[in-house]
Amino acid sequence: MASGRERSTWRDRYPDEVTCVRCLETRDLTHLDRMLWCDLCRAQARNRAGWWGWLGGLAFGACIAAFIWIGIQPSDLIVGAWAGTVVAAIWLGSKVSRELAYGVMRFRNTHAADAVPPDTAEEGPLA
Ligand SMILES: [Zn+2]
Repeated sequence: MASGRERSTWRDRYPDEVTCVRCLETRDLTHLDRMLWCDLCRAQARNRAGWWGWLGGLAFGACIAAFIWIGIQPSDLIVGAWAGTVVAAIWLGSKVSRELAYGVMRFRNTHAADAVPPDTAEEGPLA
């Protein structure tokens, strides 16, 4: 791969084991990206962004539907065709919103956002 060299440049600055900034778990560097998010946290963020995506998509679709309903006022015959337009708008809107939501999460880069609070069992000095 041509990107092999490029990847190693930033990875070289870190030891093999690095703490993920999101969940504060120590992971092998190969599981972390440039922003020190582990693949689990990235999957979680993507998942969350997916929900925001559908929300945004539906909102966008509703706007388009309202615009078609009020602005264009289609006759009953072609309403089916417009329904397809609305579905396409929802689908497109969800994709755009998902990328936006994910981008915002990456940009804000909230530290320890997915960190699990320390378990009470861990601090019990029973031994
Ligand atoms: Zn993580």
